[in-house]
Amino acid sequence: MNSHHSGIGMTSQRTRARMIERLRSQGIADEVVLAAMAAIPRHIFVEEVLANRAYDDVSLPINFGQTISSPFTVARMSELLRAGSILGRVLEIGSGCGYQTAVLAQLAREVYSVERVGPLLTRTRTRLRELRLNNIRLRHADGLLGLSEAAPFDGIMLTAGTPHIPPPLLEQLAVHGKIVFPKGSQDQFLCVIERNLQGYTETIFDEVKFVPMMSGIWKR
Ligand code: SAH
Repeated sequence: MNSHHSGIGMTSQRTRARMIERLRSQGIADEVVLAAMAAIPRHIFVEEVLANRAYDDVSLPINFGQTISSPFTVARMSELLRAGSILGRVLEIGSGCGYQTAVLAQLAREVYSVERVGPLLTRTRTRLRELRLNNIRLRHADGLLGLSEAAPFDGIMLTAGTPHIPPPLLEQLAVHGKIVFPKGSQDQFLCVIERNLQGYTETIFDEVKFVPMMSGIWKR
């Protein structure tokens, strides 16, 4: 744990254990996901004034009008992407503060994460480096184009809402791979798209609320 957050460092271990118990009671059953979330200090991903709320079951504002997803949503999306097996190469679109990225890094061999807002990514890069998670590669790019140089991916997770998955992402998904994303713009539902030898299947899950996916990289 890094020193400038040590003020709440002592209690965060216990607070995190309570968060895990709450996730269990909310129906998260994947022990690998729960262990990953028990290992990552969520409070260092939010501004210090919000650190005392980091383990509550809420999404919180980060910068640039974006939000860190609630613990339940992170757990649920991770569980859906993993579906009980070890992930090889994963692509995340929308690094934001990097919390979901850090959780994915415990579940997959390699994580590529793409963020369109440069200054957000700069903070996130520092944070993830401090945690010494070295199977993560961050890119400042428009995730709607995917990341062809690292494809195919066994899993792709979008952390912003979109009514449709752009064709490049479908193409960059490995056969038997999965895409997990918030589908829709007004009303959103978690959606899993699976690729098989015949094509793609789609399954709809819980209702969620995410900021919308935007195209292009952010410029001042
Ligand atoms: N998982 C993040 C979610 C942040 S909110 C977290 O918990 O912090 C969604 C993020 O997606 C924002 O940071 C936003 O800038 C980013 N985003 C939106 N559209 C994007 C795109 N086309 N490519 C890359 N990132 C995008």
